[in-house]
Amino acid sequence: MFNTLARVAKSNWGLGHKAMSILYKGLFVPITTYAAAGWADLLKESHRRKLASVQRHALLRVTKAYRTVSTDAISVIAGVLPIDLAITERALQYKIRRSINFEFEGLAFQENEAATGSRTRSLLRARLREAILRIWQRRWLSSSKGRTTFEFFDDVQTRLRSNWVRLDTYVVQFLSGHGNFRAKLRAFNLVENELCQCGEEQTSGHLLFHCENYTNSRSDLRNKSLEIGLRDTITPRELVSKELFETFKELARKILNRQSNDDGTTQRLETDVQGQSYHLDSTGDQSPNPGTSGRDTSPTNALME
Ligand SMILES: [Zn+2]
Repeated sequence: MFNTLARVAKSNWGLGHKAMSILYKGLFVPITTYAAAGWADLLKESHRRKLASVQRHALLRVTKAYRTVSTDAISVIAGVLPIDLAITERALQYKIRRSINFEFEGLAFQENEAATGSRTRSLLRARLREAILRIWQRRWLSSSKGRTTFEFFDDVQTRLRSNWVRLDTYVVQFLSGHGNFRAKLRAFNLVENELCQCGEEQTSGHLLFHCENYTNSRSDLRNKSLEIGLRDTITPRELVSKELFETFKELARKILNRQSNDDGTTQRLETDVQGQSYHLDSTGDQSPNPGTSGRDTSPTNALME
């Protein structure tokens, strides 16, 4: 149903990211976590994987990311809990509401009889949320997927708090590293070589930080970062800060618009990457280059060179 809505939204209503987020939170999450208390304990690994795949497809729609972005990365980019954790949280919230004691993450969640019920419950809910986030953070740290995204958001809690991060199709390409970048297209055999017009390997990091063809496009970002006291270098983490995010987003749009004008890859991308022909299997978690995030995604990049 979510997919049908997404298709309608895309073709007729032109709904943006915000509206899609509302659909996601208002429909997808309630439906998939419905009555979670009754069945969360019964979830097997195979169910979890299936649910993760369903969530991934919904979030690809919400974020307008490329189909090749991994499950681990997409929930961090979108800033939403992985679905199995959302279900677990929902089930345990039910226990808190019904004053059922339980253990989770090695912690005892017990209602203190001396305290007033509702206050204790909200404390327990806060502790539960912390425990859930700890699990998500552990997974994100140990994952081999989405390491380009990790350069921007290494901490899931920080991502959740970053409510200024409003996504569009351009910035998502840089946040994921999956997009109109020749090194990525080459990995999927969509172009003949990975070379940028400047002669270097064209990764997302190359375009963002290094490519000499975009020195002028970076001037706003350069000025803005000097303004807030950043010196010679800037990190991906700083690009998603409250101060710099909008400027980063604008740069992403400029770069990618010029990219498609320069080499005419837009058409190919729309049919191959965002269309069915470029569809990975339903567990779809493969990265074209597992374990390699490219030399240009090192934590510190010289922006001012
Ligand atoms: Zn270049």
